[in-house]
Formats: sequence, C-alpha cells, structure tokens
Amino acid sequence: MTSQRETIFRAFFESEPHMTVEELHERVINMDPAIAYTTVWRTLKLICEVGLGEKKYFGDGVVRYDRVTSTPHGHLVCQKCGSTEEFFSNEITQLLQDKADEAGLLPEEFRIEVVGICLKCRQQQGATGADSSDSDSSDSEKGQPKKKSNVIDISGAGGM
Ligand SMILES: [Zn+2]
Ligand SMILES: [Zn+2]
Repeated sequence: MTSQRETIFRAFFESEPHMTVEELHERVINMDPAIAYTTVWRTLKLICEVGLGEKKYFGDGVVRYDRVTSTPHGHLVCQKCGSTEEFFSNEITQLLQDKADEAGLLPEEFRIEVVGICLKCRQQQGATGADSSDSDSSDSEKGQPKKKSNVIDISGAGGM
C-alpha cells in the first residue's frame, strides 16, 4: 500500500503541475498499472491535507491539483483550451506582500492569475480567419442572375 502511495507522490511532484485526477491516474498507471483511480484520488486528497498540494479552479469547471511551491507562483490561463503556464516573479510577490503588510493581512495564499487566449489558440484563430478572402470569380455571372430573379419575383409574388 505504501509503495503505491509513493508512486503517486512521485508522479505528482515530478510531472507538470495542474493535473486533474484523471491525468494523474494516467501517469500513475504507466508506472504501476495496479493502482486504482480511487487510490489516486485519495492520495491527492491527502497531499492537499498535509499542505503539499492544492485544488485549482481555472474557470473551465475542471478541478486541477497543483503543487504548493515554497515561493508563490502565478498562472497564465487560456480560456479556450484550458492550458496553464506557471511563472515566478519576485517583484509581484514582494508587491503583494507589501500590500498585505500595509493592510495588516497575514497572507496564507497568493493567487496570481492572468486569464486570456494562449498563443496557440490565437494562431489557430488567425489561420482560419485569414482564409476568408473575397472571390473575384462572380464578375462574369453578374448579368445573368438578374433575369432569373425577375422570373422568381413573378412566381413567388403571393407567398412572401
Ligand atoms: Zn501552479
Ligand atoms: Zn489555448
């Protein structure tokens, strides 16, 4: 039992942050196929209870688990694909700490989040948007549809 828990700990702390239970379980069964989903879930809960991990909500309704790092870190969150990147900034941390001190707040958790659309998603958007250019093939046909529309006007006069 202990070794299973160790495997889950290792998978959680050695891999990329912000994993759902499903993603961590996938990683864990690569290391030990015998480990059950519920064991992963229970171990994650334990990791959070001892203060080494925490639940994160990035606005897409999915619960992800993040490592608690010794220095606070910020998140860059894509609203579209849900990807998250971490960054560390001593300046921001210091600023937040100063603001908390000024207000007399003892910080327990720092939340630094930038939400937007990531580069990958914007490049995909740009690729589909650039393709819709106006066509110049309709010039030669401009004369003909007018006659046809006259016919349609007469026959369809009753029913709008
Ligand atoms: Zn994080
Ligand atoms: Zn994205």
